[in-house]
Formats: sequence, C-alpha cells, structure tokens
Amino acid sequence: MTEQQWPVLTPFQCGVRGCCPRCGQGRLFDGFLKLKPRCEACGLDFSFADPADGPAFFVICFGCIPSVMFGLWLEMAFQAPYWVHLFTTLPVMLLTCIPPLRPLKGWLVASQYYYKAEEGRLIPVERSLEPAVKP
Ligand SMILES: [Zn+2]
Repeated sequence: MTEQQWPVLTPFQCGVRGCCPRCGQGRLFDGFLKLKPRCEACGLDFSFADPADGPAFFVICFGCIPSVMFGLWLEMAFQAPYWVHLFTTLPVMLLTCIPPLRPLKGWLVASQYYYKAEEGRLIPVERSLEPAVKP
C-alpha cells in the first residue's frame, strides 16, 4: 500500500479558510468555533488541536484594546452621549472582536498541525544522550 500524498498547505492558506490542515478539502469547524472531531475528506483526527486561549489573546490585543481606545477617544474628544457610543463604539467593538476569532483559531490549529506542536514529554537520560542522527 502506498502512502497517500497530501498537498503542502501553509497554516495561513488553510487555517484562515477553516479547511483541514492536511488535505485542504474538509472543513475544520462544526459551527462558529467548535471543531469537528475529524476531517470528513481525509479522516484526520482533530483531537490534537488545542489552541486554548490563543485566538482570544490575539483578538484582545489587536481588536478589543484598539476598539476600547477608540471609544475612550470618542468620549474624551467629543463628550459623546450614550446613543453615539451605541451606534459607533459598540459596532466597532463587535466587528473587531467577533469575526476574527474563527480565522485566528483555524490558523492556530493549522499551525499546530504544520509544526507538529504538542505537549512536551520527558525523555529518559539514556535516550537523550543518543545522537539525533545516526551515522
Ligand atoms: Zn482533511
């Protein structure tokens, strides 16, 4: 049996689109942010995927904080009434915080697959002293 060849996909290519990081055909998400258990096209088990708080961290740093700064600037510069914030600051906050979550999560999951990132393991001392490449 020959081993299946998969296309080389960068994490950004497939992750942002929410596609399977191995085949690029199947979908990664079952809903908005919930991952499917496995790819429907190639069968890749998505249990390795655990981006944890990564997407939220990026959204907070690059979406939430700037939009809060915008709201504070609007308040300090114009002493805007609440209804102005309702129609400006709130939509800016929602648009900068919610839509980026899914592509960021897809990118992080695809990066985990691409770079084979996993939890660290302890290696016994005897094995750690062996040369990585045997002559
Ligand atoms: Zn797949």
